[in-house]
Amino acid sequence: MKTPSLIYILKNLSCPQCGKQSVFQTYLRLKKRCHCGLKISNIDIGDAPSFFAMFFLNIFIILLAITVEIKFSPPLWIHIILWAPLIIILSILLIRYLKVIFLFLNFKYRNK
Ligand SMILES: [Zn+2]
Repeated sequence: MKTPSLIYILKNLSCPQCGKQSVFQTYLRLKKRCHCGLKISNIDIGDAPSFFAMFFLNIFIILLAITVEIKFSPPLWIHIILWAPLIIILSILLIRYLKVIFLFLNFKYRNK
């Protein structure tokens, strides 16, 4: 059986083995097993999605905050209102995709 490509899986957030079903039980929690028989709970992705989400998002947000400060120099409460929700929303969105990426990489390169 040919495994689907990473781009297809990312587009559908689907299982790395069959590519048909979503790997998510709730918005951020992964299923224990897929209908095709792949035990997703056996694939250990650890803290990698959260780490990379924090790492890249921090760089992005800090650069944005510095740019806004240099260009407009708003009061501090504007920074808090601007960046706190943005960090929360973007990290939740990013972690979903990073989880699928690490599931795919683990499935493809580690289980052999
Ligand atoms: Zn599957």
